[in-house]
Amino acid sequence: MTGYDPVLLDGVRKALEEEKTTVVARFAALSAQDPFADPDRLTDNAASDADAFEESNHDRVSAQTDELKAQVMAIDDALVRIGNGTYGFCVNCGNMIDTDRLAILPTATQCLDCEHKKKK
Ligand SMILES: [Zn+2]
Repeated sequence: MTGYDPVLLDGVRKALEEEKTTVVARFAALSAQDPFADPDRLTDNAASDADAFEESNHDRVSAQTDELKAQVMAIDDALVRIGNGTYGFCVNCGNMIDTDRLAILPTATQCLDCEHKKKK
């Protein structure tokens, strides 16, 4: 196995780090919107339909923050794999992942073949 060009990997690492900064900022902004994170809520005597609204708002926000958390984990994972030299190799079959695929999805851990097999 030959591995990837270190210059290319360095570019990927920088792009991932920038992406992570963006995702973390969005995560912080979203968390601030979560009504359950509002310290005033504890003393809030709002009517129950307002609570129901806050409940659904919380669910919506937490679904988005879960998604962002998963993105950060995928980025961290990719950064670790760049560091230890396993980046760009399919975790399933060990083949090199197509660079076109990595350009679109830099956090990809499997080659297209395995990804397709997984979905069946
Ligand atoms: Zn594979």
